[in-house]
Amino acid sequence: MRVIEQVAALRVLVAEWRRQKQTIGFVPTMGNLHSGHRSLVANARSRCDRVIVSVFVNPTQFSAGEDYDDYPRTLEADSKALVEEGVDALFLPKVKALYPHGLENTTMVSIPGLSRELCGAHREGHFDGVLTVINKFLNIVTPDFLFLGEKDFQQLFLVRQMVAELMFPVEVIGVPTYREDDGLAMSSRNVYLSEEKRAKASALFQILSDIQQALVAGSDEYTALEAKGLTQLKKAGFKPDYIEIRRQSDMARAEPGDQMLVVLGAGKLGRARLIDNIQFAR
Ligand code: AMP
Repeated sequence: MRVIEQVAALRVLVAEWRRQKQTIGFVPTMGNLHSGHRSLVANARSRCDRVIVSVFVNPTQFSAGEDYDDYPRTLEADSKALVEEGVDALFLPKVKALYPHGLENTTMVSIPGLSRELCGAHREGHFDGVLTVINKFLNIVTPDFLFLGEKDFQQLFLVRQMVAELMFPVEVIGVPTYREDDGLAMSSRNVYLSEEKRAKASALFQILSDIQQALVAGSDEYTALEAKGLTQLKKAGFKPDYIEIRRQSDMARAEPGDQMLVVLGAGKLGRARLIDNIQFAR
């Protein structure tokens, strides 16, 4: 596996692979890799001639007071995992390389509206940071395929919109959420959970599953289901951010009769902010 820090060096490598007519898959991550990340990488490995993974804790997607400084950085273990997954190149840019003019006075990409809802309403500027860094990566890596997790449903939706609107010649592949045995979605932030909180953490998935079941059984009582979910989440020890039922197609609030739905939830449990969602048809 090649380990590359410089943008120019990565461009040279990609150009060489392009000359050889090889397809390139790209998996952006913030590191502290777990089986969820590995399933994205394995998916890329199975589809593409070359696989590039980035590990970059992107400062512009953290709001003030969030865990940018504390975010778990485990490069040695990550690197080993990526070698095991057969990755061709690990891209490790420095903040200065991606934001040469600093973080305050930098070009940003943003989608108003949906970016300010759900997680965006609780993490100011978060999705502007995500879209900006993905934009940079797409310009540097020029992948044929971009692999993102369905765990971050709103992020996946917004990146798909950006890719379509800015006309990036890349296919976005959403990879299903990888879970622990009790249903908890794997996340780098799960390491923040104490043993006591960890025992309660699967409540988020359970509550979303219960809402899914009610919807599949024919309920259109969206507001009541959301309110009940919030109460249950509180009871389980969370400080809830939201539980919402939305349409898959445009992420607008679901209306009676909608069939392709996604139920999304987020909240803080101790130091960890957990998010999850379930997509389904009915
Ligand atoms: P992160 O390192 O948290 O920025 O995540 C990097 C990528 O891995 C994103 O596309 C996430 O959606 C994806 N991802 C994170 N956790 C999971 C999971 N449990 N299952 C599937 N994909 C995931």
